[in-house]
Amino acid sequence: MKTVTILGCTGSIGTQTLDVIRRNQEFFSVYALSAWSNESLLAEQIREFSPRVVWFGGDSSRLAREYPSVKFVTGEDSLSEVACSGEIVVVGIVGFAALRPVFAALEAGCSIALANKECLVSGGEIITKLLREGSGKIVPVDSEHSSIYQALRGTDTTGVRQIILTASGGPFLHTPITEFPSLTPEQAVKHPRWSMGAKISVDSATLMNKGLEVIEAAHIFDLPESRVGVVIHPESIVHGFVEFDDESSIACLFHPDMRQPISYALSTLAGIPRLVSTGVPKLHLPMQRSLTYYDVDPARFPALELCREAYRRGGGACTVLNASNEVAVNSFLERKLRFSEIVPLVSSVLEQFPGTPSDSMEAILEADRFGRSATERELKKFS
Ligand code: NAD
Ligand code: MG
Repeated sequence: MKTVTILGCTGSIGTQTLDVIRRNQEFFSVYALSAWSNESLLAEQIREFSPRVVWFGGDSSRLAREYPSVKFVTGEDSLSEVACSGEIVVVGIVGFAALRPVFAALEAGCSIALANKECLVSGGEIITKLLREGSGKIVPVDSEHSSIYQALRGTDTTGVRQIILTASGGPFLHTPITEFPSLTPEQAVKHPRWSMGAKISVDSATLMNKGLEVIEAAHIFDLPESRVGVVIHPESIVHGFVEFDDESSIACLFHPDMRQPISYALSTLAGIPRLVSTGVPKLHLPMQRSLTYYDVDPARFPALELCREAYRRGGGACTVLNASNEVAVNSFLERKLRFSEIVPLVSSVLEQFPGTPSDSMEAILEADRFGRSATERELKKFS
């Protein structure tokens, strides 16, 4: 029996993690939960899973009265402390806010099932340094990275020519580009294959998500971005390929349901065989009929190349790219920016970045601040 801490328990990853735990109570119990908002859902989760500690971004006085045996905490430092509790930590927080808790958990030697990608994009250098030094462990939950990890079965990338991440292409794969300026947040968050939080859904529509995932994969698998390929695969059944020097490839297939990679990460970190009860629908290949693949059209999806450029530039460029994208996506969701303006805005902020290192938490926080304030300044030109 392993205790699990879930950061971002009210989100798409958090609720799916709790469903996997619900189905596997002989192996896992909940130690701590964290949520930024959604008090009513959090209350339901506390009732069902009886955590010892709960971090809440809002006012927890009502919850504290209702659940006197639970320890309620709040504030940034406490979130990092909560991240170091439990035998396995699932990180389902969205955005840069996950960086400090992840860093603290690794420093404390914790085992992390990592769904959040923004922390690796922004702080890949300091996170991988800790991992190389043997401090803590990460098993990826992002479906493409989990697939590559599952295909490699824990071995290194000797003999691997490249890894290939698949992308569904999102809701606008076939929308005329001339319509991009008038696309609404409601259209953008309506992903054809996955049910996810708003931010990652918009990133999937611009394909920024795949660009962020290329950077994430480069860090996790210690490969240059040139050896991380991307292919459009609208059916989202194959999630990743490992292509070897001898012309063979291993692919990982599953029904598009995040409970598969969550289950895999939990069982791997717990040191037990694959879970039998995941809730993921069975993959019935004859029903699937066809699996199709296309190259990415760079005119439709310029975000992918922008992310590759930021990675090649190094230093704080990826931190700035991530920060700028977070602000831009938020502005789009608040209808202050057009869909077609997100990527050009991020690109113009990156051009303004003079370049700073990213080898310490302070340097990363500085680059993140630069990205956010430069984007806010640029946004004024768009309104
Ligand atoms: P979501 O918006 O559904 O949930 C986010 C969670 O984080 C919520 O519990 C929220 O309360 C919490 N949160 C938000 N801001 C916070 C802050 N500032 N501090 C602390 N907690 C905060 O997001 P999601 O779709 O579950 O995605 C979470 C992460 O996992 C993202 O980085 C995303 O890219 C990654 N991911 C998600 C999926 C998916 O299917 N949803 C797949 C792959 C990767
Ligand atoms: Mg993914």
